[in-house]
Amino acid sequence: MKAAIFYGLNDIRIEEREMPKCPKGGLIMKVCYVTTCGTDVKRYKRPYAIDRGQGEYPIFGHEASGLVYKVDEECKDFKVGDRIVTHDATACGNCYWCKKGLSNICPNMTRLGGTWTEYIAVDKKILEKNTFKVPNNVPLELAPAVEPMACAMHCAEAANVRLGDYVVVNGAGPLGLGIIKYVSAMGAQVIACDMSEFRLEMAKKMGAKWTIHVTEELDQIKAVRALTPNERGCDVAIEAVGLPKTWELTIPMARKGGLVLEFAGCAPGTSITVDTALLHYSELTIKGLFHTTLQQIQMAFDSMVNLLIPRDIMITGNYTLDNCVQALEDHSNQIGIKNLIKISKETL
Ligand SMILES: [Zn+2]
Ligand SMILES: [Zn+2]
Repeated sequence: MKAAIFYGLNDIRIEEREMPKCPKGGLIMKVCYVTTCGTDVKRYKRPYAIDRGQGEYPIFGHEASGLVYKVDEECKDFKVGDRIVTHDATACGNCYWCKKGLSNICPNMTRLGGTWTEYIAVDKKILEKNTFKVPNNVPLELAPAVEPMACAMHCAEAANVRLGDYVVVNGAGPLGLGIIKYVSAMGAQVIACDMSEFRLEMAKKMGAKWTIHVTEELDQIKAVRALTPNERGCDVAIEAVGLPKTWELTIPMARKGGLVLEFAGCAPGTSITVDTALLHYSELTIKGLFHTTLQQIQMAFDSMVNLLIPRDIMITGNYTLDNCVQALEDHSNQIGIKNLIKISKETL
C-alpha cells in the first residue's frame, strides 16, 4: 500500500509499505479521506513536542475516515463496509487521571498509527472507545474533523461560558473556528482575530459577532477591549494560534477576574512572561489546555451528526496522496481551512 512517510522536518515521501495486520479484537480501515490539521503543519515545519511512538520513519498524519475493510473475529460491533471515523488516540480509562475525569492527560494513551495511507489497523481499545459509525447524513470527508473538533470542544467547555459573555478567540484556523462555533452556540458574544480576511469571513459564518483583522501596526489588545463595555476586557480570552507572542498578547485581553485559555501548543522550550501585578490585582486565571476527553470526543461527534459543523466551511481543497505535501504547504500558508486529501473511493 502507498503511504506518506515522515522523514523529518520538511521531508515527506510517498513510499510503499506493508499492509497492516488486523489486530485482535480490532479491524482494518480502508482510508477514504484524511485532512490536514495545524498539528500536522507544526510537526512538518518545526520541532514538535509529542512523540507518537511510531519509530524513526512513521506514516504521517492523524485524522482519517473510511470504510471497514476487515474485522477480527472477536470484533462484534463493526462489520465490513461500515462508514467509520476513528479518533487518533484513546485514554486508558483506568489510571489516576482518567478516574479523576482528566482523560485528556492520561499517561497511557493508545495511539493510532499514521493515517496518510491506504489502510490502517484500528486497535481494540481505540475501536471500543473512540471509533464511530458515520451516519449517512454526515459526509464522510467531514468526519475526520471529529478529532480537532473534540479539542475545540475541550476548550469551549473550559471557557465555562455564561449567556452574553464576551469571548475573544485569537486565531481563526480550523480549531479557532470550531471554538467560535461552540462558544457562540453556548451563548457567548465572540470577537474573532486573525491575519487572514478569508478566515475572518469563515469566523463570521461560524458565529463570531465581530472580527478584527490583525496587522503589524494594529494595537490588538486595545482593539479587542474597545468592543467590550467600558473597554473592560473579555470574560474569556482564548489563544488558538500557538505562538508565545500571542499567548502573551491574549492575557491583557481578559477583564478583571477573567479567564485566559492558552489553547494552542507552542514549540517545545519556549516560554512566556506574565505581568505579575496584572495577574495579582486583576485576579486573572490563566489555564493551559491539552487534547480532549472521552466525553468531549463523543460531544464533538454528536455536534457533527447534528450538523453544527458545516462541511463547506471546515473542509477545503482537493488533494491526493501524491500531492499531500502541497495540501500541508497550503494549510501552512493559510490557503483553505482543513485541506482534504482523498485517498480512495468510498467503495470497497
Ligand atoms: Zn488534528
Ligand atoms: Zn488513563
